[in-house]
Amino acid sequence: MNNIVSESLIVKPIKRKDGTYVLRLCVNQGQLTVGMLKTVMETMTKFNLTSLRATTGQRMNLEGIPDDKLDEVIASIGVAVEKPLPEITVCPGAGICVYGVQETRSMGDKILSLIQENGPYPYKIKTGVSGCKMSCGLSYVRDIGLIGGPKGWDVSFGGAATRNAGVGIPLGKAVSSEDALNLIAKALVFYRENGKKRERTSGMINRLGAEEVLAALK
Ligand code: SF4
Repeated sequence: MNNIVSESLIVKPIKRKDGTYVLRLCVNQGQLTVGMLKTVMETMTKFNLTSLRATTGQRMNLEGIPDDKLDEVIASIGVAVEKPLPEITVCPGAGICVYGVQETRSMGDKILSLIQENGPYPYKIKTGVSGCKMSCGLSYVRDIGLIGGPKGWDVSFGGAATRNAGVGIPLGKAVSSEDALNLIAKALVFYRENGKKRERTSGMINRLGAEEVLAALK
């Protein structure tokens, strides 16, 4: 480990019921570098922290940080932010997974940029990108969902894995990457302009009607 350079991480502190804190390590698409791992390991050792847990959004939670040590732990690990980048779940995709027919990682990055460019939004947006119809990226139940097929992407909008779980409405079938991004950009603007405060895309579509939303996005 001596010749490995430590890397700083972006973290979001979250208070827990018992008064301790979790630091959410905001890694992109679940990808940790060796330098990041070194930082995390050294911090955990230094502060005697024993729990690092993967989240559903492909991030990591460093758990059990005492209130009076929070600032020191943050300084050791990186930089704290109020609002991390939106959550995105991206499967390995073509080139890595034997079933993958579309490349997912660069598509995930492009969607994340689109989400940042078009905000702010009424509430959170979760995205899923899957390289084939197996949908390991949870695409069917994400606000923005992409599913790779041999001829392009199926794009859906307004899926949710909440208590009102449901699949998103279809915005496009077998479309090119460029067309998929254009469809997503339109949907993001529609949500920004029509969603109510703290209303997810699924709630907005339920309120306005799927057919009306699809017609508006044509
Ligand atoms: S969705 Fe398809 S490409 Fe992605 S990990 Fe699952 S099986 Fe592989």
